[in-house]
Amino acid sequence: QKCLSLIKKTKFLNAYITVSEEVALKQAEESEKRYKTGQSLGDLDGIPIAVKDNFSTSGIETTCASNMLKGYIPPYNATVVQKLLDQGALLMGKTNLDEFAMGSGSTDGVFGPVKNPWSYSKQYREKRKQNPHSENEDSDWLITGGSSGGSAAAVSAFTCYAALGSDTGGSTRNPAAHCGLVGFKPSYGLVSRHGLIPLVNSMDVPGILTRCVDDAAIVLGALAGPDPRDSTTVHEPINKPFMLPSLADVSKLCIGIPKEYLVPELSSEVQSLWSKAADLFESEGAKVIEVSLPHTSYSIVCYHVLCTSEVASNMARFDGLQYGHRCDIDVSTEAMYAATRREGFNDVVRGRILSGNFFLLKENYENYFVKAQKVRRLIANDFVNAFNSGVDVLLTPTTLSEAVPYLEFIKEDNRTRSAQDDIFTQAVNMAGLPAVSIPVALSNQGLPIGLQFIGRAFCDQQLLTVAKWFE
Ligand code: GLN
Repeated sequence: QKCLSLIKKTKFLNAYITVSEEVALKQAEESEKRYKTGQSLGDLDGIPIAVKDNFSTSGIETTCASNMLKGYIPPYNATVVQKLLDQGALLMGKTNLDEFAMGSGSTDGVFGPVKNPWSYSKQYREKRKQNPHSENEDSDWLITGGSSGGSAAAVSAFTCYAALGSDTGGSTRNPAAHCGLVGFKPSYGLVSRHGLIPLVNSMDVPGILTRCVDDAAIVLGALAGPDPRDSTTVHEPINKPFMLPSLADVSKLCIGIPKEYLVPELSSEVQSLWSKAADLFESEGAKVIEVSLPHTSYSIVCYHVLCTSEVASNMARFDGLQYGHRCDIDVSTEAMYAATRREGFNDVVRGRILSGNFFLLKENYENYFVKAQKVRRLIANDFVNAFNSGVDVLLTPTTLSEAVPYLEFIKEDNRTRSAQDDIFTQAVNMAGLPAVSIPVALSNQGLPIGLQFIGRAFCDQQLLTVAKWFE
């Protein structure tokens, strides 16, 4: 009840696309009954959880924040949604995002941008008042980051205890950093993608947003495991419930600091927190060493060639016949396809489909797509080499800076800015590694700043243990 009333109070944040009030209340009633009659309880029994609107939910509209899927009601639950429900979680609703999860701001969905709850903190408002260039209060708010910005705003505004995001190039970690949350991207293959409407199948992972690392571990415990409906999931033994030790010993750890991540665009505040964090590990006896990930500078371009190519192929299913929107034009099938897709997709999605089809043309395929796959291998091998040299966990920034005001974000070339912002997160997806962003401090403006830990593939528990120690 409390969470539902907060959802209503914070409607102006635009965090939710659909609020599933009736479903949540019915689930809460059932959970209460289980509790009162002494039945065994699930790991998430009675816990309010929100789900990004690119996960299929049986009987509940699933839009991907796109005109193309408005009104689409899936007949089944994504595996992760079903697993949450099986553990007794309450489904609060479906959260806002950039259309089809393409973006880093949560500003590009058809339902409008998501506002960062931190825009309304007392400290930030005071600081803005001192700034003579500050715009008027109604338009003066911060982006959440994205693309899982609705999920981040929902958790940050206390409307739920955890939320599912998706993470293809940083979409869970980026908004977590901007909203003062833990944002966890599990190893590729540990958590099923069945029912997650794909962006880039070879990089997509369901992500977890929570207020502390322990909560993320509990949700991971509920979600992890092989799924016959997703052939890329693995049989990785995982202890359940998935608990982290309360007192970890970091003195035997080796923490790697990738030197290529010290980019000129990095804000001085983030940089100084990053080095303070490294000092803290050192003072606890951990070994902190500089490592090189030499192919870092190719990662954004490489990601975009691979992303748009998979997008071109994935989006082909939205043809006006099977799912969602269909235009009124019926002069020919081709005219119907074209008009449906023009009406259904925003210009970001259309732009990516065009780029991807260009890279996949017979005469370009070797030069772009195949070459990008080779570069992806080099990027992944950079991490393998760092871990083989004895590094247990890498410590990096999550984003270049704290959250920026919306008006500033849209002033610059939005997409160029989005791309730059993913510099610390995208390579991890190309390598399939686990990574977590945790909030470390507030900036001078009173806004949260996150740092990222990256772990060895399938060493998710070790990664979260280190993050919890640091938290
Ligand atoms: N910003 C990246 C993109 O637009 C990553 C998005 C994501 O992780 N879903 O593709």
